[in-house]
Amino acid sequence: MKQKNLKPEVFKVKASAIAEAIEEFAPLCLQAEWDNSGFTVGNPKAEVSKALIALNCSLEVVREAVEKECDMIITHHPLIVHRPCLSILEGDLRSDAIMLAIRSGITVYSSHTPLDKAPGGLNDIMASRLGLVDVSVLGADGFSRIGKLSRGVSTMAFVERVKKAFGASKVRTSALIGGKITSVAVSSGGGQGAISDAVRAGAQVLVTGDVTHHNFYCPEGFMVVDVGHHFSELPAIGLLEAIVKKNFPKFVALLSEADKSPIFYL
Ligand SMILES: [Zn+2]
Repeated sequence: MKQKNLKPEVFKVKASAIAEAIEEFAPLCLQAEWDNSGFTVGNPKAEVSKALIALNCSLEVVREAVEKECDMIITHHPLIVHRPCLSILEGDLRSDAIMLAIRSGITVYSSHTPLDKAPGGLNDIMASRLGLVDVSVLGADGFSRIGKLSRGVSTMAFVERVKKAFGASKVRTSALIGGKITSVAVSSGGGQGAISDAVRAGAQVLVTGDVTHHNFYCPEGFMVVDVGHHFSELPAIGLLEAIVKKNFPKFVALLSEADKSPIFYL
């Protein structure tokens, strides 16, 4: 006889235990001075039963969490980035996200710059997706990486490789350089600050996001490929999911469907 009305057993875990597992991979002490990784809203001691994993803790993502009855949100970008947060008032997108999370009893944890920097973190994933070998840390801040392509490729072939690696339909580039590309630097998110380090280290190209007008003027033999902040950091979702699943195999963690790039290429 089939047993009816039996609810599947819900596996609960302390939000702080999930945070500890993430921090084992990407310790909070790695975070940049301006960053606000860690818990921002809710109760770290709460026993949570379902998490939503996303890149951004946007209002859409918080709404999705409410709809899907998640009591925890785990993201790359913190819900509150700038300190101090002086006011939380209705009608402001960020405030609305904060208030909805609080009202809905959702605890929010984010691993931002620690996830960028950690060995095996976002920058290492960028390097591996592009097929770089001999990868090392680029620059004093520890964010970016530099590596080699085992076989040189033409500039256009490289651009296509970037699009494919990050699922971007379009990229922005500076003037294309000639010859074969073998030396590549990467910096997840908005990494244009790594340009001078990349040039100095002999990279021919830097792949990053959020490059502004003036930084598309590049020295000879060097170019930037802007794959978009969002696309360069999308691997964060899979990475966070893998950490949660590995440590708590029975815990339900959903991947956000509402979290899309806020930028449209028409
Ligand atoms: Zn970012």
